[in-house]
Amino acid sequence: MPELPEMRALAERLEARLRGAALESVRAFSFSLLKTVRPAPEALVGSTVSSLHSRGKYLVWSFSDDRRVLMHLGNAGRLDLEVPAKSTKPRGALARLAFDGPAVLLREHGSERRAGMWVLGPGDDGPLASLGPEPFEAGFAELALRGADRRHLHTVLRDQHAVAGIGRGYADDALNCAGLSPFAALAGLDAGQRARLLDAVRSVLSEALDAERARVGGLSDASLGDRFSVHGRAGSPCPRCGRRLERVAFESHEITYCPTCQTAGRVLADRRLSRLLR
Ligand SMILES: [Zn+2]
Repeated sequence: MPELPEMRALAERLEARLRGAALESVRAFSFSLLKTVRPAPEALVGSTVSSLHSRGKYLVWSFSDDRRVLMHLGNAGRLDLEVPAKSTKPRGALARLAFDGPAVLLREHGSERRAGMWVLGPGDDGPLASLGPEPFEAGFAELALRGADRRHLHTVLRDQHAVAGIGRGYADDALNCAGLSPFAALAGLDAGQRARLLDAVRSVLSEALDAERARVGGLSDASLGDRFSVHGRAGSPCPRCGRRLERVAFESHEITYCPTCQTAGRVLADRRLSRLLR
């Protein structure tokens, strides 16, 4: 799933191309995509794009009439920039926003329908209202350095209400960078560990953002998996110490970690055991 670096770089690329462009048509191909009823997407036709930015994992389109469109790509959503706009409906197509020239096609790989689109009227923040601070904002520093959340670090980092923009991928990479167990409780960290957590999250995301900005290729590149140094790389050497990375099942997904750097040498067998080994 695209996380903060990918969404921010995507917003920057789209804004460079589409700022000031007038929307000529909106077409939704998927019934389940649109999460709002009013305003209708067609109401945006004729207005121009005043800015594009990201908030957490959302792409935020601001239009000249103070309406906004949010897009969430889910696990497998992608955006294609079409120059010029096409009129076909490719496989997996969810919606197309056509401008005076180019169009943006929102589509999804596979059959899982997780992407969403919201059309918000003036003053309506929709799902943005419940998002936590982004990692580079002061609110995240406050959480990392003083937060009393007793949940696992991996869970806190992925909770969009606690901090917006981090998913499984950068949670794995940041915790490895910080040398912290994914199952440590935030509330139980000492001052040094908290400082490492904050630094690691910010440095991992900064590096990823730099890499994503420099990436050559389409907006829709599906091969995002190779951007992680730890996530999804169990069996490969730890980038810090060279030991073999391990994986542990947790809830519905897997966490990749280094026993030497993160869990005092212990290999975690399952979630229950992990709790004992915190
Ligand atoms: Zn290591």
